[in-house]
Amino acid sequence: MKIGAPRELWPGEARVALTPESVQQLQKLGHECLVETGAGLGAGISDDAYRAAGVSVVADGAALFAASNVIVKVRPPTGDEVARLSDDKTLISFFYPAQNPELLDQARATGANVIAMDMVPRISRAQKMDALSSMANIAGYRAVIEAGNNFGRFFTGQVTAAGKVPPARVLVIGAGVAGLAATGVAVSLGAQTYAFDVRPEVAEQIESMGAAFVYLDFAGGQQDGAATGGYAAPSSPEFRETQLAKFRELAPQMDIVITTALIPGRDAPKLWLADMVAAMKPGSVVIDLAAERGGNCDLTVADQRVVSDNGVVIIGYTDFPSRMAAQSSTLYANNIRHMLADLTPGKDGVIVHNMEDDVIRGATVAFDGAITFPPPPPKVA
Ligand code: NAD
Repeated sequence: MKIGAPRELWPGEARVALTPESVQQLQKLGHECLVETGAGLGAGISDDAYRAAGVSVVADGAALFAASNVIVKVRPPTGDEVARLSDDKTLISFFYPAQNPELLDQARATGANVIAMDMVPRISRAQKMDALSSMANIAGYRAVIEAGNNFGRFFTGQVTAAGKVPPARVLVIGAGVAGLAATGVAVSLGAQTYAFDVRPEVAEQIESMGAAFVYLDFAGGQQDGAATGGYAAPSSPEFRETQLAKFRELAPQMDIVITTALIPGRDAPKLWLADMVAAMKPGSVVIDLAAERGGNCDLTVADQRVVSDNGVVIIGYTDFPSRMAAQSSTLYANNIRHMLADLTPGKDGVIVHNMEDDVIRGATVAFDGAITFPPPPPKVA
């Protein structure tokens, strides 16, 4: 089959869904690969680098869609891109079907099969295709780099002839994939790092990284709001008050706060409130990785860097993975080629869209002219 990656149209999006390395693996599965001219430039991949890997470079998006059996991309398609689909094509990209019902119906009406990378079930077998995790890991890493870029001091403590420098204090709120990555990077840069989550099971991971887990003195147990499946549920009002009181106590001591707290299907919980920002030292930095879902910090403005009255920098960028496009394209393209490997069981260039397969079924949101979202719960954990 012909697998094609168009140039991403989302403003500022620098990632690409095929790399010369992933193409080599796809060729071993019997596929041919195409890219739209310039598709890789944001990630540092020239048309010539693709050509050297045996990829055909086509002139524009329309030609790319027309020539490809499977279109692989990063961002959900635009309406115009969906209009280029047909019942002999498969689209694989982030899609966020719950947030994009009209787009999903438009895609269904073309008869194309659509696989949403954000719907890959989070089961062990599917980890290699788990693009939400690979991108969250990069976002967590980049959050610390961005914090460092906006913080006028060292992360690590130093004793120098010119004076003694204390280590920066970093608080990570929400220790899922992004929060754990941020914690690891902050520790490795020498910051005194603290992390908090409503899920107590992450305490051990945090402590094994050399960071301190923030425990709460809460009557109902250490933490609350941990739900099944590794995701969080909204906290009780009493727990929330205990949590906020703890954050108020920590606010004046923290130089950098990285927030990543999310609850599936809801707006991000507000956890770093205006009075906490007001209590921070001038020059401190808040990086809000939940900005796209409304932000964990009261003062966050999505896609903006704002400075509070007391000189705290609050960053609400929503494109952290794209800010490391070379790295994120490598990992995303690997997620995509693993998905294609499962769709090519005979390694013969023939796509078998097996709806009996839990992972493929879970991620497929449109199939044979029907909407197949939401999927039934996966059978294997
Ligand atoms: P997420 O992005 O949904 O949420 C980020 C973090 O915010 C979570 O750790 C959550 O507990 C936390 N949070 C929510 N409300 C909070 C609050 N009020 N205060 C503090 N923290 C709060 O989570 P994620 O990064 O997608 O990961 C969620 C879980 O899924 C983790 O346990 C992760 O290990 C697991 N996971 C499993 C797999 C797999 O098995 N294949 C893959 C990826 C993630």
